[in-house]
Amino acid sequence: MQTIQHWINGAYSSPADSRHADVTNPATGKVSGRVALASAAVVNDAVAAAADAFPAWRDTSLARRTQILFSFRELLNARKGELAAIITSEHGKVLDDALGEVSRGQEVVEFACGIPHLLKGGYTENASTKVDVHSIRQPVGPVAIISPFNFPAMVPMWFFPVAIATGNTVVVKPSEKDPTAVNWVAELWKEAGLPDGVFNVVHGDKEAVDTLLEHPEIKSVSFVGSTPIAKYVYEKGTAAGKRVQALGGAKNHMIVLPDADLDLAADAAVSAGYGSAGERCMAISALVAVGGIADELVAKIAERTRTLRIGDGLRGTDMGPLVTKAHREKVAGYIEAGEASGATVVLDGRQVKADAEGDGFFLGPTLFDNVTPDMSVYTDEIFGPVLSVVRAETYDEALALINANPYGNGTAIFTNDGGAARRFENEVEVGMVGINVPIPVPMAYYSFGGWKNSLFGDSHAHGTEGVHFFTRGKVVTTRWLDPSHGGLNLGFPQNA
Ligand code: NAD
Repeated sequence: MQTIQHWINGAYSSPADSRHADVTNPATGKVSGRVALASAAVVNDAVAAAADAFPAWRDTSLARRTQILFSFRELLNARKGELAAIITSEHGKVLDDALGEVSRGQEVVEFACGIPHLLKGGYTENASTKVDVHSIRQPVGPVAIISPFNFPAMVPMWFFPVAIATGNTVVVKPSEKDPTAVNWVAELWKEAGLPDGVFNVVHGDKEAVDTLLEHPEIKSVSFVGSTPIAKYVYEKGTAAGKRVQALGGAKNHMIVLPDADLDLAADAAVSAGYGSAGERCMAISALVAVGGIADELVAKIAERTRTLRIGDGLRGTDMGPLVTKAHREKVAGYIEAGEASGATVVLDGRQVKADAEGDGFFLGPTLFDNVTPDMSVYTDEIFGPVLSVVRAETYDEALALINANPYGNGTAIFTNDGGAARRFENEVEVGMVGINVPIPVPMAYYSFGGWKNSLFGDSHAHGTEGVHFFTRGKVVTTRWLDPSHGGLNLGFPQNA
């Protein structure tokens, strides 16, 4: 059985006294490896490596940094199939979807290849007589990236290409449930020519996270995960004087207005509700059917959902298993609760027959109708293949539901009415909005992030907000001494 080790200063490191956790292939239920769980001492080693590498990396020319980024991009593009297979074997999502995840991460690498343009400062000649002013942005120092299980490659890639391109050194703490993807990335960086110590990986749990949050050499923390942990990381990290962006959980609503094309809306609901077994922070989990269309729409969704093939993601199926047995049981518990609270069970995933060997953590797509806002299938982030249909009389009622929700990550409206869509875009209190697009994940050159309990901090990931997060601004005022500058003046210069 393989042991998944930390990657520190350009090499694997395996302290003998490590605690370990099992890593499982969710499609077979079999343990495939053991991941080392870092002690504070191991985290300190990784941070020391990042701190030692920082001075030389921040002074490495932009030309050289971008050459390395381009090499990394080329290697990733050529070999992304390997990374996708690792993701499927530890996360469970189907291979196509894993490839999609890598491609979306690659787009951030491509964005970061353009960093010289993004780091250009401003310059003002003669701000005062023979006095010039210019601005620069500099890296913040060693940074920490702490990521969730559901996108083991893409979520870390929202951050590290921009962090590295802007001259920072990095310590990544991936999810202990699917840790191998980031190790594969570490080896690829080495092959691309990144100096040792610029990209480090520590595996672990709360002990590793807490050590990063308290470590004085770590200057910023980029976290993605569930809302309670995001809030904890934000509070602890900022209390220790770091800048923190902590992206949390979600409950994403899709509104369907009566004028929408119901076939296209049903396709979108199935794809966005059940893709990656609902384990996406941008998954649609609540569909609000407005104005008497619910019977027809629910029938269309159910008809399409019945055609989905559930099984091992390496077998060309549409939907894989959930990540762990415990998570499968938790989601099944929500289905029980939904039924007990009086929602109509249109499709029940608990009876699924999966195309897989062994004892995988499968749960079929589940569809509830007549869900009301007091039910736990509506209030809670389930993070599984469970789609709840809520019926609303009017657009205003549907909008009020979304705006009352404590989360504000993604949302979508389906309509052919441009005026309604425009109103929605303006009125909805959510960070990422789709108009006839069910999962509106922004492109790498925009920034990804939600509102309310879906994001603690004020910087979204990648795009210009990412560049801003990983750099500090400095403004320089210059004069080259000249006789006209002589004389004493103890006042504040005015209109000079
Ligand atoms: P999680 O919060 O359990 O874990 C995230 C990270 O925090 C992991 O690295 C984990 O090791 C660490 N962690 C867990 N418990 C901790 C503790 N007590 N103290 C310190 N660190 C701890 O999340 P998960 O189950 O891996 O991922 C699913 C969650 O992530 C969902 O809520 C999903 O919505 C959210 N998510 C959000 C986004 C977004 O962009 N907003 C994107 C992806 C996932």
